[in-house]
Amino acid sequence: MEYRRLGKSGLKVSAIALGSWLTYGTVTEERTAEACVHKAFELGINHFDCANVYGAEPHAAERVLGRALREYPRESYVVTTKAFWPVGAGPNDRGLSRKHIIGEVEKSLTALGVDYVDIFYCHRFDPETDLEETLRAIDDLITQGKILYAGFSEWSPVQIADGVRLQKELGLHRFVASQPLYNMLNRGIEAEVIPLCAREGIGQVVFSPLGQGVLTGKYRPGQQPPAGSRGATPEVQAFMRRYLQSEILQKVEELAAVARRYDLTLARMALAWVLRLPEVSSALVGASRPEQVEENVKAAGVVLPEEALREIDRILGA
Ligand code: NDP
Repeated sequence: MEYRRLGKSGLKVSAIALGSWLTYGTVTEERTAEACVHKAFELGINHFDCANVYGAEPHAAERVLGRALREYPRESYVVTTKAFWPVGAGPNDRGLSRKHIIGEVEKSLTALGVDYVDIFYCHRFDPETDLEETLRAIDDLITQGKILYAGFSEWSPVQIADGVRLQKELGLHRFVASQPLYNMLNRGIEAEVIPLCAREGIGQVVFSPLGQGVLTGKYRPGQQPPAGSRGATPEVQAFMRRYLQSEILQKVEELAAVARRYDLTLARMALAWVLRLPEVSSALVGASRPEQVEENVKAAGVVLPEEALREIDRILGA
């Protein structure tokens, strides 16, 4: 396994990280979820991503992940959580107010069974809360040792710049992690978010690097999604609709042909592709089976030749 620094922090995270959205605490049976976490540890993954809303009910995924992690020394892994999305119907059951962030972090610590989380993310930007309130709440949690580092997910360049400027002005702990969507089919962060974060010492932990499984090549144009896949699972398949379109699947077939020419699986090529950027600290994958963890970890250390990168750009019209 390769380990990379998270932005300019001293924290080292595995190039491949394991997440739990739509899997653990949702449709993946608990023993299989635990087997995925154990396989990840065995193969050198030290970075496990979670959120208060992952799972069939709030904190459900954290409970599953926490039980699996309990076997390992606390210092050997990095575990994350997030807050923003609604966890109930009440007016304070969402957002980035001081009340919601601090209340949710407490519940996340209990669900995970840990004294601190390594990285806390603002799961989205909250236009209804004054940014200073959010940043001060995070700073207090860091000072109390309940979270060690902080980041944001899918903030716009303006929101990131405002956040960093305020943290500097107020002398608060600075963000070190950005968690955006990034894969060969979604390159929106390349123009502004990546350079801005690089200037501010913020590393990228990119989610859905496999396009929720599409960039493994298992979804074929004109065919039904394979049995047991996310695309064929009623509870979660709606999240994949953006990818299961014939135009996209045709492009994926062409990408798979490039991977074969370089003796790679498409999954490995897709992960090596996001990791080609030094600004990317971890490629954050999901896995519904331990075999997927095994396959995905093989991408760490793969360097794609310039020629392959050019072919990929040509197919994607980039
Ligand atoms: P991926 O693009 O890695 O897709 C993961 C899914 O693809 C797996 O659950 C599995 O689904 C399938 N898969 C994975 N590896 C293979 C393989 N080798 N061969 C075949 N199929 C494979 O990422 P996700 O979209 O799941 O996101 C990863 C993590 O990122 C999440 O768990 C979460 O922690 C984080 N995330 C954060 C978000 C945010 O807003 N901050 C949003 C989304 C995700 P199956 O077997 O069921 O088909």
